[in-house]
Amino acid sequence: MKKLALWICLISPFLLQGHAGGHYATGDLLKIWHLQNGQTIEGNFAYGNSEGITVEQLHGTLQTILLANLQTADRKIAQLKVNRYKSIHGQAFTETLPKTSKPAFPGMHWIAFFLFATLALQVFSGDHQKKWRQAIGLACLFVGIIWACKTETAISPSNSSTTTTTPTKTSISFLDSAFAPYKKTISTNYDDTYYYVNSNGMPEHNMMVGITSWQQQVPIPQPYSGSNHWSIPLKPVYESTPLSTKTNFMKGAVALAVNGIPIFNALNNRGEDSFAIGELDQWGGHCGRADDYHYHAAPMHLSNTSGLKPIAFALDGYAVYGAKEPDGTAMKALDAYHGHELSNMAYHYHGTADYPYVIGSMRGKVSTDPATPAPENQILPQAFTNSVRPALTALKGATITNFETLSPTAYVLTYSLNAKKYTVKYSWVNSTYTFVFTDGDGKQSTETYTRK
Ligand SMILES: [Zn+2]
Ligand SMILES: [Zn+2]
Repeated sequence: MKKLALWICLISPFLLQGHAGGHYATGDLLKIWHLQNGQTIEGNFAYGNSEGITVEQLHGTLQTILLANLQTADRKIAQLKVNRYKSIHGQAFTETLPKTSKPAFPGMHWIAFFLFATLALQVFSGDHQKKWRQAIGLACLFVGIIWACKTETAISPSNSSTTTTTPTKTSISFLDSAFAPYKKTISTNYDDTYYYVNSNGMPEHNMMVGITSWQQQVPIPQPYSGSNHWSIPLKPVYESTPLSTKTNFMKGAVALAVNGIPIFNALNNRGEDSFAIGELDQWGGHCGRADDYHYHAAPMHLSNTSGLKPIAFALDGYAVYGAKEPDGTAMKALDAYHGHELSNMAYHYHGTADYPYVIGSMRGKVSTDPATPAPENQILPQAFTNSVRPALTALKGATITNFETLSPTAYVLTYSLNAKKYTVKYSWVNSTYTFVFTDGDGKQSTETYTRK
């Protein structure tokens, strides 16, 4: 009889697994925890300490939330639950919150269970059925069952192996790892509020080829450094009524690619889809009125170098990923803002090959320049261009056919117009830029400008 009871105990974890969804099947009531950054986490209190709580989500997923990151009302509830938990279980058992990490491989918890179960059997089957043997045996079983029922997943988008926390503040190491592959051409620093990126606005990839609607501007370096650096908010906060990129942000950048190139609204200042009307090169970019290179479409090519890391950060602070989720799976469905908040990671956008390409609406709060009302309301802070020559106009019928780097400070752009070949060869020394134009008949003209 005793043996039968023992075996029922041993197989109980398998019965629990047979119930799809673990302890909380879909539709069961889960408490919604409100974070200070506006995000929410669904899950029921499992255990906790003076630092934070661990909640159990759908399918038994455990997620840790720091008390400091909770909104006041929810923090009070969490503290009440922690206090009650302490009075039941004693402080020693709960003082250290588990590090959130994925199990090494599925089934790891079952191996742990069997180890504990074997240990329990050994203890039970001893010659002397003493009370302390039974107690230890039951304790082993209890730990084994608990272990078998739970899995844990990481919370933050960071791939770092350190303890993960709730995404109230984007970790510097996460941002560093996203920008790291491009550190040859950019530099970064940070304070408590922003992550700053210094860049000269010139990408490592080729540019301009394929543009059929051209304003005659060519890429030259821009002074996006010092006090004119790019600023990515470290503590993104949800906007209650996110501003649509259809009717806002027609001026300035909405995001910064991890190679230091700004990403502008997918619509041009006439409300047209820049990509659809041939204004962009095959990398999704072109030059503005200050000869500033920038993207209007998602720079999906960056994921070749970035892998599963973000390809950009929106100026509201949320990351922009490529075609895959950070864990390598196919992109999950996007919301109306062109992003989503998955159960185990912070809100993020995805770049896609179709409109709106990067951002449908700015999910996070941003400040805008009061001097320019919507739709020209540009996000502040942001880095500004500095032109060296007067802006040019559209050259109807021209197609850019080639772009060549002659040296780190010299380029030649080739375009065809009326079946003839034209070139713009340009170079610079310090702030003085020389442009040599060769027309379809081989006639040359030179212009020189100095940036103030
Ligand atoms: Zn543009
Ligand atoms: Zn995603």
